[in-house]
Amino acid sequence: MQHILDAIQSGEATGQDFAALDLPESYRAAFVRKEDVDMFEGLSIKDKDPRKSLHVDEVALPELGPGEALVAVMASAINYNTVWTSIFEPVSTFGFLERYGRLSDLTRRHDLPYHVVGSDLSGVVLKTGAGVTKWKPGDRVVAHCLSVELESPDGHDDTMLDNEQRIWGFETNFGGLAEVAMVKANQLMPKPEHLTWEEAASPGLVNCTAYRQLVSTNGGNMKQGDNVLIWGASGGLGGFATQYALNGGANPVCVVSNEEKAAIARSMGAELVINRSEEDYRFWNDEGTEQNPQEWKRFGARIRELTGGEDIDIVFEHPGRETFGASVYVTRKGGTITTCASTTGYMHEYDNRYLWMNLKRIISSHFANYRESWEANRLVAKGRIHPTLSRTYSLEDVGQATLDVHRNAHQGKVGVLCLAPEEGLGVLDQEMRDQHLDAINRFRGV
Ligand code: NAP
Repeated sequence: MQHILDAIQSGEATGQDFAALDLPESYRAAFVRKEDVDMFEGLSIKDKDPRKSLHVDEVALPELGPGEALVAVMASAINYNTVWTSIFEPVSTFGFLERYGRLSDLTRRHDLPYHVVGSDLSGVVLKTGAGVTKWKPGDRVVAHCLSVELESPDGHDDTMLDNEQRIWGFETNFGGLAEVAMVKANQLMPKPEHLTWEEAASPGLVNCTAYRQLVSTNGGNMKQGDNVLIWGASGGLGGFATQYALNGGANPVCVVSNEEKAAIARSMGAELVINRSEEDYRFWNDEGTEQNPQEWKRFGARIRELTGGEDIDIVFEHPGRETFGASVYVTRKGGTITTCASTTGYMHEYDNRYLWMNLKRIISSHFANYRESWEANRLVAKGRIHPTLSRTYSLEDVGQATLDVHRNAHQGKVGVLCLAPEEGLGVLDQEMRDQHLDAINRFRGV
């Protein structure tokens, strides 16, 4: 791989030079093994340790198909989906690969006894498949993680609705936590050039998801002045939701679990911050079998105290079972709860009387369509939305990086260097970087 890295680092290699590079037969990648899917049986979710299931080793370079691209990955990032894959929860992702593999001769390449994970990347295009015209070897790119076939009309208005919609690196193989990744070429987007490789890779999945869930007409359709309740406001999704709320003239009410995270939310410009640990909300009884509506009310009263008596227009939901009852309760009449996840449990329970009598709506959201992804990346490239990178690991330490996210011991995004030999490389637009340096570094050193 050294000759590829040299070409990228030289800054002088042309597209033709990249096209002429010999591709290796194998590359280093982070993967889980099919033979390990039962290794954590009997353990509680929190005791399942990604360091034991994630391996970093050589894997074979896949054969490139039409419409696809091989990318030399300089950096990637950890998403919660890599936590799920690595602990084989709620299901093993090998089932996704097997199902995808049954679709066609080409997709059969994905059904392997190992799953290369990762749904973010920044890097350089090495080779494109037949029919790709927009991208060429040497292009500096990031990738969103929407993989679709678009052969049925279902996804023609909104590509997320394609009946063969998958998340690359989670429901497909050859993901971004590796030296080389294989994507569909229409996942590629221009790398924001004021960012380092690791910064540019990190917004990816969560930025696009937050854009759809909060801003898009397919999600919360947020408008100026909206009170937006953001759970985990300094986490992966929440760090972007908070920025979108502030950018769009809304009033984020940021929920976090400690003062360090509260300080990050404030440094982004949020004024209304709730420390859920300090206030010790107990939405459920100790056994987790029954909810405590008095606690929803106490939470709602605290929100009104912060907003000057107003309720929440949009809840940005993802913790799920633990918080959903409270989220429905604190939403104003006619307001919206947008949900994209259930980190604490997917069997939600809420009091439906508060929903229907007050004409509230629950809107489901999942990743983002092609256009939403492009818009979300465009805002990063324009310096309107910033990466939230707090720490970067080497590819060898991907297990520890994933454990940090699993244990909620991180802030914002956790990056991973793949081919990049060190942090801080890859910036081409220093002037723009200088303009935004404080915002880019906000999550660092925490
Ligand atoms: P993350 O970086 O771990 O952030 C989640 C935040 O949630 C944490 O920082 C934590 O903040 C908060 N949280 C955790 N447990 C909580 C609880 N019991 N009550 C209230 N808040 C709690 O993860 P993420 O990247 O934002 O992802 C969050 C979830 O969304 C994951 O389940 C992920 O799989 C899912 N997701 C779905 C999509 C999609 O397209 N559908 C996309 C991205 C992510 P505090 O400790 O500060 O409160």
